[in-house]
Amino acid sequence: MSFEDLIPVVNKLQDIVTTTQVADIDLPLLAVVGSQSCGKSSVLENIVGRDFLPRGTGIVTRRPLVLQLINIKEDDPIVHQVPQQDITTSNGEINLEDHLRKSKGGASRTATEWGEFLHVPGKRFYSFNDIRGEIERETARIAGQNKGISRLPINLKIYSTRVLNLTLIDLPGLTKIPVGDQPSDIERQTRNLIMEYISKPNCIILAVSPANVDLVNSESLKLARQVDPTGKRTVGILTKLDLMDQGTNAVDILKGNVYPLKLGFIGIVNRSQQDIADNKSLDDSLFTEQQFFVNHPAYRSMSNKCGTKYLASTLNKILMNHIRERLPDIKAKLNTLMGQAEQELASYGDIPSALTSSGEARGAMVLTLMTKFANSFVHSIDGTQVSDFSTKELCGGARIYHIYNEVYGNQLAMINPTHNLTIQDIRTAIRNSTGPRASLFVPELAFDLLVKPQIKLLEEPSKRCVELVYEELMKIVHNVCSSSIGLELNRYPKLQAKLIEVVSDLLRERLGPTTKYVESLIEIHRAYINTNHPNFIGAAQAMNSVVEERQKQKELESNNKLRLASERILKSNSTKNQDEESEEDKDESEDINSVDDVIKSPKHSQSHQRTSSSSTVQRSVTGVHENQESYLNYFFGKDPLVHQQQLQQQAQLNPTPFKFPHPHEQTLQFIGSNNLDASMSKLSMNEDDSTSFETDDTINELSEREQLECELIRRLIISYFSIVREMIQDQVPKSIMCLLVNYIKQHIQNRLVVKLYNESMFDELLQEDESIQAEREKCIEILKTYREASNIISDVV
Ligand code: GDP
Ligand code: MG
Repeated sequence: MSFEDLIPVVNKLQDIVTTTQVADIDLPLLAVVGSQSCGKSSVLENIVGRDFLPRGTGIVTRRPLVLQLINIKEDDPIVHQVPQQDITTSNGEINLEDHLRKSKGGASRTATEWGEFLHVPGKRFYSFNDIRGEIERETARIAGQNKGISRLPINLKIYSTRVLNLTLIDLPGLTKIPVGDQPSDIERQTRNLIMEYISKPNCIILAVSPANVDLVNSESLKLARQVDPTGKRTVGILTKLDLMDQGTNAVDILKGNVYPLKLGFIGIVNRSQQDIADNKSLDDSLFTEQQFFVNHPAYRSMSNKCGTKYLASTLNKILMNHIRERLPDIKAKLNTLMGQAEQELASYGDIPSALTSSGEARGAMVLTLMTKFANSFVHSIDGTQVSDFSTKELCGGARIYHIYNEVYGNQLAMINPTHNLTIQDIRTAIRNSTGPRASLFVPELAFDLLVKPQIKLLEEPSKRCVELVYEELMKIVHNVCSSSIGLELNRYPKLQAKLIEVVSDLLRERLGPTTKYVESLIEIHRAYINTNHPNFIGAAQAMNSVVEERQKQKELESNNKLRLASERILKSNSTKNQDEESEEDKDESEDINSVDDVIKSPKHSQSHQRTSSSSTVQRSVTGVHENQESYLNYFFGKDPLVHQQQLQQQAQLNPTPFKFPHPHEQTLQFIGSNNLDASMSKLSMNEDDSTSFETDDTINELSEREQLECELIRRLIISYFSIVREMIQDQVPKSIMCLLVNYIKQHIQNRLVVKLYNESMFDELLQEDESIQAEREKCIEILKTYREASNIISDVV
């Protein structure tokens, strides 16, 4: 393999470094170093063989220029691959220059030689004047107009049939005194910038020194020695040999007798400022240079080792040896990069060979993904999906149980059993159910009538519970796509969308029947009020507690009275004392009389009472404490005579068995429910209003009996409602599980197969996500480049 064949490898690697932003591969570089105006840019131009670099007196090169020379053959296909931007300018108009060139049928000479800037991708600069202009513009853009310097390099590639493959770096020259916008530490800054390039071990330093200045003062050699003390990668370049004083020459230096450099010194004659002004061509200049050495008495004998041409071929050899040394290292780095690229490629999944293979294979693929999806869905409901799911919030099945136990449970618990039920409603219901006759006992009809609408209160939260579970299942469907199976599915957005769609449809289908069933559950409970339910408090027990409470209250009252009385006794004399006592007795006998009056009335409608009394009530009545039984009989129609006797008996034992407090007081004490409380306190608040009369009066109108009845009914409603609530709270989640959750779990796989396992759909379903496709292609491309480079390197090594 020839040296020149090896260089495209380097350029290729350089390309990879630039395009993939991987700065890992330290490719061999050539950098020109030297004091200002010593001829660095001129040397580079000569090597390139083209007139394109800004040159001149003063500081001209103000940004590093990374210059890649690429040798192309005339028939190289790249010559004809004219990029799109080349035909039109950035604003889309046809560039006149390009148009002329094209209409001329492509000027063959310029077309095989052009420059490309990294910062102007896709545009070929055919004119070297344009290239120089672009360098100047780009320099000013970053480094400013006034002599400032910047460390940011300009990247330029020169494609030509007439260059050797070299990568060169033009650097700003060393200066001592700041001018223009240059900072006071310009010398240090430039030095650092140069060091940045030449300190890299793979950088070959072209240390330029002008022959008309004493070599002892050469800044470039001083710098080079710092980073390359043994001089094994420093090439000495002696410019301006033509400007040496008459009678002096640089032969000693060129022979290595003055300054020892392993790679030696090469003498050069560049174009003078006058030549530049005269527009002397490079070809002419190279010719003149050669003539200079051939004809010069001192250099004639060594003319084949002088001049730009010799410099170029020498550099090429040096570079090649350097590359050879570096190759194993580059290869290792390349392997790392390839490994990374391969890993990345694997992350995009295999190339969908299923698309090109048989329908059977595609079917299997769809089926596999479908099954995984279904399983993942079922697992996240069952909680067996131990995966990337969050530990911070509940998910999947756990959420559903949370809905049942917390959300739904709390909502049911919050229902007030007597919601929207006023004492007036109860009273009206009682009155209506008894018809024209006075009620003799608490009518069951009224209880039935009142409790049914209350059960309806359970419907809304129950339906909401179905909805919540439904929404949760929807969430699970979508979450499955963000789990690990989801990652696989991300490649096939259409399949993913379809899977979600089919399961969502299935879910929606089940929402109706489940809701209907839950509604009918409530309806069922409203259809028959089972007062035989073992947990039902029953009228007897309800009465029992009402009476107990009242007795307690009475006791409290009489205790108070007793206390007051004894206080009075202590205060007044005996005669006065007696008067008061007789007065109190009178009060008590009045109380008894009033109770008697009440008791007498049921006697008359005894028969009616008996026929209506329910078995429940009778059952409840039996076995109740004697004392309380008397009161229950009062309501539920035991023999009124016996009843009366008992009552009287009791009245003797307890002189004040029944004394209702002031209506308002009583209301607050006995009607404990929030709702009734509210309606009552509202009434109380209205007391002073002129309009309050009616309501106030209404309350007053409630007889003691009615108050007792209302309270009793209220308690029965609360008791019965609690039983139904408990049952509903148990039944609704079970129904949802059966009709919605489990149904979906059982049918998901089948439904997916029915809807999606269809050969005509496979193509569409397995269409890959475009961005993933693009990423993969990009990755494959990079990998290909790496492999190519790696193969070439392997051949060399
Ligand atoms: P840089 O600042 O190191 O890049 O130097 P340039 O390449 O810009 O050259 C500075 C000036 O020196 C220009 O006017 C060149 O024409 C002139 N120059 C460079 N090399 C030679 C040479 O070998 N002989 C003569 N006569 N002039 C040269
Ligand atoms: Mg320069």
